[in-house]
Amino acid sequence: MEWLKTHRNDAILIAALMLLGGALAVFLYATRQDGGYVSVQMDGQTVMELPLDEDTQILLGEGGEFTNLLVIESGAARVAEANCPDQICVNHGAIRYEGESIVCLPHRLVVSIEGGPGNDIDGTAG
Ligand SMILES: [Zn+2]
Repeated sequence: MEWLKTHRNDAILIAALMLLGGALAVFLYATRQDGGYVSVQMDGQTVMELPLDEDTQILLGEGGEFTNLLVIESGAARVAEANCPDQICVNHGAIRYEGESIVCLPHRLVVSIEGGPGNDIDGTAG
């Protein structure tokens, strides 16, 4: 009986370690793949923050002189349409990784990818 008990505990321990390792691997993989959210700045002010994993379309500057259509799709953000003269923001293409950004100079608009879910875990000290 004693022998069985010992080995059963070993098996549970090994299974637990494997589970933990698997979960950690998935966690690291997931957090490295994508940034956390889309930050929208107009005139140097952060006007909205949107989750990158929710598909959405937002017309920025609606009703005003400057408009940019921000589209979040499949974990990536892009400016689909804009009425700026240079169209650089539209031609920039999609962004999805932390630190990437789309700038529309004529509209003083910056769309950038900020943080990842992993930053909350050990980011409290900073
Ligand atoms: Zn533009």
